Amino acid sequence: MASPSQTLASLHQLQLRLKEVQDEIARGPRHVQVRRTQVQKREAELGESRDRLKQQKVLADQKNLQLKTNEAKIADLRTKLNVAASNREYEIITGQIAADTMANSVLEDEILEALTKVDQFQIEMKQAEEKVKQAEDELKQIIAQVEAKEPGLKEQETSLKASVAKVEMDLPSDIMPQYRRTAQALGADALAAVENKVCTSCYVQLTSQRMVELRSGKLIFCTCGRLMYLPKSETEN
Ligand SMILES: [Zn+2]
Repeated sequence: MASPSQTLASLHQLQLRLKEVQDEIARGPRHVQVRRTQVQKREAELGESRDRLKQQKVLADQKNLQLKTNEAKIADLRTKLNVAASNREYEIITGQIAADTMANSVLEDEILEALTKVDQFQIEMKQAEEKVKQAEDELKQIIAQVEAKEPGLKEQETSLKASVAKVEMDLPSDIMPQYRRTAQALGADALAAVENKVCTSCYVQLTSQRMVELRSGKLIFCTCGRLMYLPKSETEN
């Protein structure tokens, strides 16, 4: 027959282990969510990158079209120049051709610049695509990890719960109502070891009388509400 302190010590161990397992079960979905958010963030960045590239292509096309229009206009002016009726008309047309040629030279520089940016944005978009893929791979990995671990953890949880319930049956019925209330409120923290005559949860020192009672096997709740027990190392002192 185990002493009350031994029973409580093993019950506490089981409860702490159960809490660890339950915490780990709860952590899985949280990790998945973190990765999922990361994928969404990368996808949004890719979307922005695509828009930027598209706009830049439109801009380059517009400038190209403008260049072609101006070139046609210059060709037209050259035809008119050949049939100019007066010196005055000839001078005006020559001036227009010079101005349009100058404008086209500026346009050509702008087109070159726009196309360089198109190339750059294309590279950036590829990089953004890579990052999405990487984030998706990481998400898949973590989902697989969580799914692989879950059955084992659930099994441990079930088995530990059963063990806790079994040990609880050894507790005297008169303390059960208070024990249940405490366990409801504090979970795995409902029990507290006493070390060096101090409750390890609230650090209140026990009187010599209390220590004698504890050692004699009496079940005592601390002023902090927890059910106290003496770990094996303390029972001999
Ligand atoms: Zn206490």
